[in-house]
Amino acid sequence: MAVLVIADHDGSVVRDTTHKTVTAALALSSDVDVLVLGKNAKAVADAAAKISGVRKVLLAEGDAVAHGLAEAVEATVLPLAAGYDAILTPANTDGKNFAPRIAAKLDTAPISDIVEVVSADTFVRPIYAGNALETVQSADAKKVITVRPTAFAAAAEGGSASVESVAAGEAPKTAFVSEEMVKSDRPELGAAKIIVSGGRALGSAEEFHAVMEPLADKLGAAIGASRAAVDAGYAPNDYQVGQTGKVVAPALYIAIGISGAIQHLAGMKDSKVIVAINKDADAPIFQIADYGLVADYKTAVPELMAALG
Ligand code: FAD
Repeated sequence: MAVLVIADHDGSVVRDTTHKTVTAALALSSDVDVLVLGKNAKAVADAAAKISGVRKVLLAEGDAVAHGLAEAVEATVLPLAAGYDAILTPANTDGKNFAPRIAAKLDTAPISDIVEVVSADTFVRPIYAGNALETVQSADAKKVITVRPTAFAAAAEGGSASVESVAAGEAPKTAFVSEEMVKSDRPELGAAKIIVSGGRALGSAEEFHAVMEPLADKLGAAIGASRAAVDAGYAPNDYQVGQTGKVVAPALYIAIGISGAIQHLAGMKDSKVIVAINKDADAPIFQIADYGLVADYKTAVPELMAALG
């Protein structure tokens, strides 16, 4: 059995979601290749070649694949698919975009967001916003799978795979127009060890930034938010944690003025240590918090800042 992992990277660095997907792939087979798509992505391919357990890196370079357009990714992957029994990619925004398309073209049912590989054809995945785990067995000869990165340890560095060029596909009916990247010196939400997350209680964008940013700076943390905070315009969309936002599992998650709705918990309940600050002692967040502080954030956060020095 051979497995192809489609790498997640930012154009210069291989994200650790790729390392985690390689771990899932290695649970399926020891023949794991990594496909890097991009423009001027040789450095990324060289970095992917150093992931332990990777047999070979395939590098597809071209304008059409520079921005993860699903059509171009599909056109690149399909000619390679004959050589693989399974195609894996992280269950992030890009993976969720192109994996169903690749699966449809291969006439196979995509298996999304797996958190465990039971065997070569059986996988565990969360359903009902993470309230239940479903074990699925696939009879399809070729499998297209998205992997929830937070459920797998990152494959170590130390490999020395070869890098081979392959043809990049085109996307004749789709054009990349532009993207607006939020520039931040803070760690990325999905990879951060510490996340401070704010909810509707913050009350305004000004207050959200005034409270959350100094605390995040002090802790070297990423900032997250509930959907209520995002919908109200207190925080940008890419801060959203939860069922329809990002799934995170940092070492420490501090929820400030977040009630703990099931859809929010779906995105953060696997965090190692959860701290909740909420003035309502009956808030559901306290049911999953390791440390709960029933307090007004307006007094608790300054005290925390002072204690951190
Ligand atoms: P609230 O529920 O209003 O909670 C605010 C909390 O702040 C309360 O518990 C209150 O006691 C506390 N508080 C108020 N003032 C203070 C103070 N001064 N000090 C301390 N505490 C205070 N939500 C997500 O977060 N992520 C998702 O991905 C997501 N996806 C969804 C998908 C669907 C299909 C649906 C239907 C909903 C989704 N939601 C999601 C929304 C979710 O149901 C909740 O509405 C949302 O999480 C609530 O956000 P909140 O906790 O900030 O606000």
